[in-house]
Amino acid sequence: MYLVGAGPGDPGLMTRRSLELIASADAILYDRLIPPGALDGARAGADLRYVGKEPGAAAVAQDETNELMVELARAGKRVVRLKGGDPFVFGRGGEEAEALAAAGVAFEVVPGVTAGVAAAAYAGIPVTHRDAASAVAFVTGHEDPRKEDSTLDWDALARFPGTLVFYMAIRKLPRVAERLVAGGRDPGEPAAVVERGTQDGQRTVVDTLGGIAARVKAEGIGAPAITLVGAVAELRETIAWLERRPLHGEVVAVTRARAQASELAARLRELGAEVVETPAIRIEPRPVEGELREALERIEGYSLICVTSPNGVRLLFDALAAAGRDARSIAGATVAAIGPGTAAALAERGIRADVVPERFVAEALVEALEPVPVEGRRVLVARAAEARVVLPDALRERGAELDDVALYETVAEPLTEAARAGLERATYVTFTSSSTVRFLLESGARPPEGARIVSIGPVTSATAGEHGLTVDVEAERHDIDGLVEALTADAQGRRVPA
Ligand code: SAH
Repeated sequence: MYLVGAGPGDPGLMTRRSLELIASADAILYDRLIPPGALDGARAGADLRYVGKEPGAAAVAQDETNELMVELARAGKRVVRLKGGDPFVFGRGGEEAEALAAAGVAFEVVPGVTAGVAAAAYAGIPVTHRDAASAVAFVTGHEDPRKEDSTLDWDALARFPGTLVFYMAIRKLPRVAERLVAGGRDPGEPAAVVERGTQDGQRTVVDTLGGIAARVKAEGIGAPAITLVGAVAELRETIAWLERRPLHGEVVAVTRARAQASELAARLRELGAEVVETPAIRIEPRPVEGELREALERIEGYSLICVTSPNGVRLLFDALAAAGRDARSIAGATVAAIGPGTAAALAERGIRADVVPERFVAEALVEALEPVPVEGRRVLVARAAEARVVLPDALRERGAELDDVALYETVAEPLTEAARAGLERATYVTFTSSSTVRFLLESGARPPEGARIVSIGPVTSATAGEHGLTVDVEAERHDIDGLVEALTADAQGRRVPA
């Protein structure tokens, strides 16, 4: 049995231990405030149970959760109890640990990054500071300060010599502030509220202790939010970093296949964008039969092998492996890659491409292949079923004995409801191939009015044009780096200088 903290919401703030345990659990009992995708790494077939409470709705009673944990653990299951933030900071993790101890169940506690520290940090507020705060207190705002039997000593809190961090205080904020001032805290002291800290759409407001409640109301700030009271709140002015990232505030839709989206998504997130994955396509490998099977059977005989995408490299090697072969079977061939991504995929498999054109289009590869003798020789082009025929045609014309085989097909991926909703909010929509344009539009979805359209290169832009989309930004280098660079430059250019 494991009591595990999942951190404040940014999936990157989950600990290594939490991910290990999620991946190996038989059962996971989780709350509402866990990061998106936190359970993605769970085993297929793991028993995933929601035991949190919806605002307003009845919670699964704490006793029931405790009983369930004990029951599953006694049944010999590896159980993860996954909680937002840190399990022992206002998460009732202490009570759960007591229940486990009382039942004689062995357990481990995995601390998490707590919201009070993390939301503050993402807002540019250090909870302690050598000049501004030598102590910090975590306080529940759940209790009504006017209640006679409040377990909190509000006068002592008002006198606390350091930063006060309130959890669960948003609804009672006016009374909390009032009570602190009544206890002697300076109403002019800086205060900050951070809503959805570390998550997409994080918002922060800073005011004085006397003014913060009205400010929060005016801005419509809601839960989950952390309230900070103390001189450190003022440091946000200098330290705020999140809002200064180049793509902060942008919502970027990524239409490429889900399996390929992660690198682009990670780059965009690092620059501060909110990324919505709206995959329009999926890669479907062709069965190893017919022409493809024949080509593999005589793979040693090719004097030139051309691969036209990283997917092609992966599937060519998968097909080789399925046929009981490996990289040595192409040892005698000259290997050509259409661009740097394809060359990198080859390098991962121990093959250094002999020919890589500078520009990442079929015409450039045709040109780069000019010095390579092909007349009367056996040449293999391994590509996507729907790829353009520029390269095979040119090689045939030069007298090559050409085998032109399809390794995979790009097919439409139906857009989920969540993807559609995400696309609606996009400020940028990225297209990394003609097929992403075609399949997105054929699915009936359209980039929203006003969203900037970003294309990886001229071929993709032309397809966009044919479908009635005006491309606002076209990458100069036709790869992921080039696309990210062009998008970022466009966003910067559109920023109104402060
Ligand atoms: N165990 C959690 C806290 C649970 S109590 C932790 O250590 O963070 C729930 C309260 O935590 C919320 O009412 C809110 O005050 C705070 N909280 C949780 N996630 C938050 C987030 N991403 N941003 C701001 N506050 C958050």
